[in-house]
Amino acid sequence: MSTASVASQAPGADAAAAQRPAHQPTCRFCAHPLRRTFVDLGMSPLCQTHIEPHDLDKPETFYPLHARVCENCFLVQLEEFVAPQQIFGDYAYFSSYSDSWVEHARRYVEAVSARFRLGPDSLVMEIASNDGYLLRHFVKRGVPCLGIEPAANVARVARENGIPTVVRFFGQEAAREIAQERGRPQLLLGNNVLAHVPDINDFVSGMKILLAPDGIVTMEFPHLMRLMMENQFDTIYHEHFSYLSFFVVERVFAHHGLVLFDVEELNTHGGSLRIFARHAENDALAITPKVSELKAREREAGLDRLETYSLFEARVHETKRSLLAFLIEARRSGKKVVGYGAPGKGNTLLNYCGIRTDFLDFTVDRSPHKQGRYTPGTRIPILHPDRIMEARPDYVLILPWNLADEITRQMAGVRGWGGRFVVPIPGVRVLA
Ligand SMILES: [Zn+2]
Repeated sequence: MSTASVASQAPGADAAAAQRPAHQPTCRFCAHPLRRTFVDLGMSPLCQTHIEPHDLDKPETFYPLHARVCENCFLVQLEEFVAPQQIFGDYAYFSSYSDSWVEHARRYVEAVSARFRLGPDSLVMEIASNDGYLLRHFVKRGVPCLGIEPAANVARVARENGIPTVVRFFGQEAAREIAQERGRPQLLLGNNVLAHVPDINDFVSGMKILLAPDGIVTMEFPHLMRLMMENQFDTIYHEHFSYLSFFVVERVFAHHGLVLFDVEELNTHGGSLRIFARHAENDALAITPKVSELKAREREAGLDRLETYSLFEARVHETKRSLLAFLIEARRSGKKVVGYGAPGKGNTLLNYCGIRTDFLDFTVDRSPHKQGRYTPGTRIPILHPDRIMEARPDYVLILPWNLADEITRQMAGVRGWGGRFVVPIPGVRVLA
């Protein structure tokens, strides 16, 4: 037995533990020690672990939800507490349940096919292809494609719908095998996956390996500048390991031999970027002026200065206070309040603010995979959307606020009895 393990069992071991320096995480890109807090949202359970009724009397695991910013490279990030295999192995998120997301995918496929002349002789691959919500548009156009999806249950749905899909976590190893067995794609895309990978270096270098010499990569991810400007702290949850600005992603890609040659700004997920990358060696594709324009705006917004990041947390505290003030006032005056949606961001908001059935009687979700379960940590029942029509609440708090337009259209009947919709972000607001 080593002296260390003897000491740990001796009287006074607790005092010794307290004197040990606190755990020091390091940056997942540059390995610099992470000392600066961006925002600390306390303890939270994994956002997709909706509770089954027979598990209601069991304990739940909570993990720190503490986002830090790297002083060296400005990557905002969460530590990896849970292996992605545990998070994404049996995922409850099926992209096809959002109408606006499916339409967004269709328009993307149309635009990218025209711009890069993709046809029956091309090969398209999508990383984290989910249930095939996007690739099905390529299948319809006769473009050969392959989905690479880590969640077996979601991949099965894609295959049943005729989308070739392999069940894999993506990285260098998967890239080498897929390149050998299936070839190298002219278009390699990934939407809402770059932020979800713990080993960002393995992931981006995997894309370098897989992409055809004249191929392009497109990726979409929520833009950190919008998160900060619009107070979207609820988009911070354990599944999102990184919070990305354009200049940081450019740096990460450059490190692995990929150049960002174009960028588009999108309104999805509260404000996203769609980046276009190519091999550094392929200068047939010129870098568009949009690249330097966006970098200039990020500089103006202060994203290359640490002071900017330290101002964020105080706004988050104030948002919690004002949302709770609204809910307390509504409930005290006898109003009925329910939620709409059970998205990942809703779980951060509900857990951080401490909102349970004392404020929301229930929430609803269109996904049958969530109905009949309970929100993680806060244990609010998740019901079918029709239940709102039966309950006739005074207020419906929209948790996926990025889909507020779609939801208020689908649920227009709420206004029939004088019900009002409320969004919590960037600040609590009752919709007209
Ligand atoms: Zn760093």
